[in-house]
Order: sequence, then structure tokens, then C-alpha cells
Amino acid sequence: AIMATDAAESNGVKLAQLSERVEATLRTFLPPEASCRNPVDMIASASPENYERTLRAVLDDPAVDAAMLISVPPVAFDSMDLMRRVSGVCAAATKPVYAVVMAPDAFYDEVHAIANHPPIYRFPENAMRAFRDAARYAEWKAKPAEDAPTFGDVDQMRAASILGGRDGWLEPEDAFALLEAYRLPTAPVRTASDPDDVPALSRATGYPCVLKATGSRLVHKSDVGGVALNLRDESEVAAAVKTMLAKLAAAGKRDDAERFVVQRQAPAGRELLIGGVRDPKIGPVLAFGLGGKYVEVLKDVVFRLAPLTRSDAVAMISGIRGAALLDGVRGEPAVDKEALVELLLRTGRLLADHPSILELDLNPVIAQPRGGRTLVVDVRVRVAS
Ligand code: ADP
Ligand code: MG
Repeated sequence: AIMATDAAESNGVKLAQLSERVEATLRTFLPPEASCRNPVDMIASASPENYERTLRAVLDDPAVDAAMLISVPPVAFDSMDLMRRVSGVCAAATKPVYAVVMAPDAFYDEVHAIANHPPIYRFPENAMRAFRDAARYAEWKAKPAEDAPTFGDVDQMRAASILGGRDGWLEPEDAFALLEAYRLPTAPVRTASDPDDVPALSRATGYPCVLKATGSRLVHKSDVGGVALNLRDESEVAAAVKTMLAKLAAAGKRDDAERFVVQRQAPAGRELLIGGVRDPKIGPVLAFGLGGKYVEVLKDVVFRLAPLTRSDAVAMISGIRGAALLDGVRGEPAVDKEALVELLLRTGRLLADHPSILELDLNPVIAQPRGGRTLVVDVRVRVAS
């Protein structure tokens, strides 16, 4: 009973307080040494009949949602007799009953013959976990059904034409175009394979801008000097290109830099990640967490099946350990959570609508307070035709 009480505590299950009426009933047939409070201790002399009457009385208490009976088989009776007795109560009960019987294997082989016996566990910890999971499942089932929203402004045809026939990692401009087809807010990008063409491109993005070296083998661009921030004009971009080429060469990665990207620099904000994978067994799964370069360090990520309902998206945002950071600490303004909900819903849709997307990684999404524009500044998408 002590083990069960500890297991209840650690699984978030509350021990019911038995009513005085039930306690009085138990007093009428249990020995004076018995404890008639929860957890009831019938003491070692308890007979199968005592179990039956106690179980019936306890289940009858409106404060009780489920009962667990525990028996360490004594010499005085056979556990099969105990199960025959209590299975009658279980058959009539409207509440779940769990049994913990620390009996030898033979008992477990034979007990199946008894109709309506309760589920039987060897240890109270397992029984308590089963009860907790059943309770969670009931809570989940009781929630009103909710549809995952669809978006009328999504350009399905454009997304399909970007994805059509592709394999592997998408080029950055295609990856961003895919997000734009789903009306996800991104920082505009221009790309070139010849680094000499890059400075002129920056005139179109505007300043301050960011320079990046990309390629399917460059997983973390910033690790190899492939990201330069705060470039204020074309000449700074030209200088940054030179420095970047030197850094890439020094890291032995010059050949991995297939394309160069210039992108409008987003205002500073809180860096988050939205990820997606298509799991071969369970399907499209969306991830949300605190992101940027620290994602692997923080490991603060939650998951849901895509497409998401609005409640899923809201629960993801409040479900990370660092959720308080989104509300702002030490005078910081809160981030625009409605914008994040929208981003999650649309990304979930994108992943669910297009089975050829195997994996996507929006990292970082730079979140802003209300009135600002939360933007995706880096995205990787892996597809299979
Ligand atoms: P990678 O993840 O491959 O290292 P990112 O494009 O995510 O490359 O850039 C690394 C970091 O640089 C980001 O986490 C962010 O802090 C910053 N950064 C990248 N692009 C921008 C941008 N357009 N505006 C502002 N900051 C950016
Ligand atoms: Mg990134």
C-alpha cells in the first residue's frame, strides 16, 4: 500500500478520502487493528470475503474513481479464490478496478479462466501507471472534437510544382518559395552560385542584410563561417564575401558552398524553431521549441501530429519548458503568440498536404512582439519524389 501510495503521488493520481459512512461500514467486518482510511489496510488475516466486501464498500463511495486491491498471497487462501470473489464485484462495477497480486507464474497462467477478473499486475507501480494512462485517455476522449483548420489563401499548385519530381534538399530559393506558397512570413532571399554576383543582388533585398553560404552538405552554415550579419551596403557585402570565402576555404568547405544567399536582416527577437518530419510509422509530426543556434543545447522541444488543430498549436506554445520566455522576462515584451499559432498551423498543413516532404526545419523563426513581423530566416526542406 505504501508503494502504491508513492506511485500514485509520482503519477499525479490523488488518493481519495473515504467518507465516514464507508469507514463505518468497513469497521463492521474488519478486525479492530485494521486501518479503515485510504489506503485501507485489512491486515494479514484478510480473507477473500473481506476483500470482496471492502472492494464493494470502497467502490460505492462517490469520492472514489477507481480501486486497486493488493494481495501478497498468504498461506491461508488461494489467490484463485480471491479472484473468483472479486471478479463478481468487478463485473457489476461502473468504475475500474486494478489488482496487484504478487503470485507465482502458475497463478497468472490459470487466472484467465475466471471471467471478469480485473487486470492483474505484479507490482503496484505498473498498475498505477496503467490507471493514470487510462485516466488521461478518458480526458482526451472527453475533449470536443476539433478540426485542423485549412487556409483558403494557400497556393497548392505552386507548392506542388516546386516539389514535383525533386529528391534531397531543396535549393534555398525553392525552400523559401514553398513557405511563401503557404503564406508563411519569410525574410526575402536572393541567391547566386557565383560569389562575384552577390553584392549587386543585395541592392534588391535592401539593408541591413545578411550573407550566407549554402549547400546540401552545409548543415550548420554558421559553424563554418557561412553566415555574416549586419551588412549595411553593397561594399560591406563585397567585403563579407571575401572574408567568407577565406573562412570556408580554411574550414575545407569551399566546395560545399554551392550557392550564396543575401537576405534582408530581420530585427532581433526571440529565436524559435518549427520542425517537421514524416515518421514512417506515425506520419507527419511537427516540432516546436526554443531555437536558433542553441536548440541542441536547450533540448526544449514539443511534438504533435500534423495537421494541427488550433488547440494543438496553443498547447505546443505553452508546452515548452521555456514558455515563460515567450511572455517576456525582466521587462521584455511578450512575443506575438497569435502569429506563432498561425505559423504552426500553416506549417502543419504544408507537411500534411505534401507527402513528398520528408523533413523540414524552420530555424530560426525570429519572433516579435505584437505589431512586429515574426519571420522565418532559415529553412531546410528534404523531399523525395
Ligand atoms: P545556420 O542555422 O545554418 O547556422 P542560419 O541562417 O540559421 O544558419 O543563421 C544562423 C543565425 O544567424 C541565426 O540563428 C540568426 O541568429 C542569425 N540570422 C540568420 N539570418 C538572419 C536574418 N535574416 N536576420 C537576422 N538574423 C539572422
Ligand atoms: Mg538555422
